[in-house]
Amino acid sequence: MFRSTRQNRPASGERAIVEGMDGDGGLFVPKVLPALSLDELYSLDYRGLSSRILGAYFPGFAEEKIKRIVSEAYDDRFAVPEVVNLREAGGVYFLELFHGPTLAFKDIALSVLPSLYMESKKKMGSDKGTLFLTATSGDTGSAALAAFSGMPEVASVVLYPENGVGSIQECQMLRYSEGRSLAVAYDGDFDAIQGFVKRVMTDKDILGRDIDLASANSINIGRLIPQVAYYFYAYARLVSDGAIKAGEKINFVVPTGNFGNVFAGYFARRMGLPVGRLICALNRNRSLGKLFKTGRFRRRKRLIKTITPAMDILVPSNLERLLYYAAGEESEAVLELTRSLRTRGAFRIPGPALAGMNGFASYWASEKDTLSAINYVYSRHGYLIDPHTAVGYHAYLQYKSRARDKTKTVILATAHPFKFPATVLKALGKDCDDEFLGLEVLSGITGIETSASLTGLEKYRARKSVWTADSAESKLKARLKACGLR
Ligand SMILES: *Cc1c(COP(=O)(O)O)cnc(C)c1O
Repeated sequence: MFRSTRQNRPASGERAIVEGMDGDGGLFVPKVLPALSLDELYSLDYRGLSSRILGAYFPGFAEEKIKRIVSEAYDDRFAVPEVVNLREAGGVYFLELFHGPTLAFKDIALSVLPSLYMESKKKMGSDKGTLFLTATSGDTGSAALAAFSGMPEVASVVLYPENGVGSIQECQMLRYSEGRSLAVAYDGDFDAIQGFVKRVMTDKDILGRDIDLASANSINIGRLIPQVAYYFYAYARLVSDGAIKAGEKINFVVPTGNFGNVFAGYFARRMGLPVGRLICALNRNRSLGKLFKTGRFRRRKRLIKTITPAMDILVPSNLERLLYYAAGEESEAVLELTRSLRTRGAFRIPGPALAGMNGFASYWASEKDTLSAINYVYSRHGYLIDPHTAVGYHAYLQYKSRARDKTKTVILATAHPFKFPATVLKALGKDCDDEFLGLEVLSGITGIETSASLTGLEKYRARKSVWTADSAESKLKARLKACGLR
């Protein structure tokens, strides 16, 4: 059972997934976290773990149905047999979450979300068509399109800032832009796109009431729960490899943007996984500031464009879930904090509640730190990491030296290094601005084969189209008509 952060009324898992957000702007959270036997979880493979955890959070679904959703989601589009992979380099462990079709961790949750959504809709008795409308600054878009392609009765439109994504990211989206799935460049920045999406989602008159509207962003609880599985998986692997004893605590470092990935780790800890610290790795935008130390949050004025675009965020959309737990699961306190955030762009968590956030820490990396981390890990340990993962590595070093904590640590590797070849090459001391050429160069230097999902992408550039702020609404309507949904 779920509830909203802003009111105590219970909501079924189906409703939480279909509605995405509560009517009053609250986010759905589990009413009680399911208790699972850890011994049992350790003995399962990745798909088994995933099914067991999804089943515990969504008891309204039959076990067989969940198993089918999981096995169809994690098919041979994932390049490693266990969906994710754990490897050691230089005394720390990297949990590789980037072996899915679009090479970033978002594939893991977005591969199960469409079927969870469709099943939920069926249970709620809606037979309308669905439009998934998603704003993206890069990785969410391609993962969502890849996941929704071929779903019946679903149209998917992804909007990305015309000059705001890398050419590989753009071509990855355009590759899946066919049939009822469409990726469109929007003549505006990410904020403008989010404004447009929000307007269409809240003003039901724009598209009419004969269609269900949904979004693939991580405010949807259906994006968070599937991620819980890999925290358990990493732990179980460390135990079975003899790196830790069962029951020993480990730390996780999570490259953080909207605070969705690390939240799944928080759920895992509350479900009993022996986790010491959850360390949020931030880029120069330092969205969380010194929140965990002082309880104070202030929205920064200006967004800085960095080499880790997926973490260029000012106010993490899952912050409200964190406030909910910090505020002792009290709606009144959440409302007060969010009101303060809305009116003053700032809030302060009172002292006693701050203690509840002890398990979190945050460190940030400059662009120089990020490039050095890529270079260091590759030259010293022969392991190539992407810029987001490198922010994680830098945060790990910072934490280790300041906290003098020897706990074994897992860094979540959130993207494949070949997704950002220009930046990775720069870190290795080679300049190459053309990302596609960069891929070849990088493959040549490292001897790592370019993943099949990245080869031949350039030709999809021809599919590019642009919507302006003035035309977007009418184009969207025409699009629905063309998909037979209106
Ligand atoms: C989305 C993304 C992140 C940030 O994850 P959140 O869940 O938004 O905190 C980090 N790294 C990569 C590569 C991403 O695509």
